[in-house]
Amino acid sequence: MHKNGFLVVISGPSGGGKGTVVRRVREMMPELALSVSATTRPPRVGEEDGREYYFLDRDAFEEMVAREEMLEYTSYCGNYYGTPKKEAQRIMASGKNMILEIEVEGAEQVKRLYPDAVSIMLIPPTIEEMRQRLVGRGTEPIETVEKRLSRAAEEIQLAGEYDYIVINQRDEIEACAKQICEIIHAEGARTGRMTAEIEAFLI
Ligand code: 5GP
Repeated sequence: MHKNGFLVVISGPSGGGKGTVVRRVREMMPELALSVSATTRPPRVGEEDGREYYFLDRDAFEEMVAREEMLEYTSYCGNYYGTPKKEAQRIMASGKNMILEIEVEGAEQVKRLYPDAVSIMLIPPTIEEMRQRLVGRGTEPIETVEKRLSRAAEEIQLAGEYDYIVINQRDEIEACAKQICEIIHAEGARTGRMTAEIEAFLI
């Protein structure tokens, strides 16, 4: 019997260690599909088009929005980011659970469209830790770091809208990824998601 997958939305401020944790979650749960977003920000060293993001110019992005080809999108620190509908629909049709690593405004749009999406906010233990991580990774100029830090404070204020909050303690990536996997496993066992298994007994 075909079972629909569910959406897992992970948000959290830049410098919260989200990328690393999500990578580890996917290694622990290879059956979980990741939706590749589109963005207008330039690729960082080592990033590949179609793997980390689809890198588009502003015109191409705006055209996709005008053609209603984005499931959700937002402008974040001067660049557009969005989830292409085609990508998300292809994954969901395959019955896989899908993970979206997106910021808070996008998460809100997804929750409106898919109320049973599971939302998780991943936060660093302290603002100082986050600053150190952002400066330490050296992928952004200092003005962008400051912009991202002030945006982070706004994002964390919305934590109450999320189903779960996970703290990414320093040097605890493994434990953090494991906690997220446990949430996803438990959500998969919710009664409402097990109706097909129960119905099989009723015939
Ligand atoms: P970064 O530039 O560090 O890769 O991403 C900046 C922020 O944009 C992160 O919070 C990331 O989760 C978010 N983001 C990435 N892809 C998407 C997307 O498709 N939609 C939305 N709304 N946010 C995204």
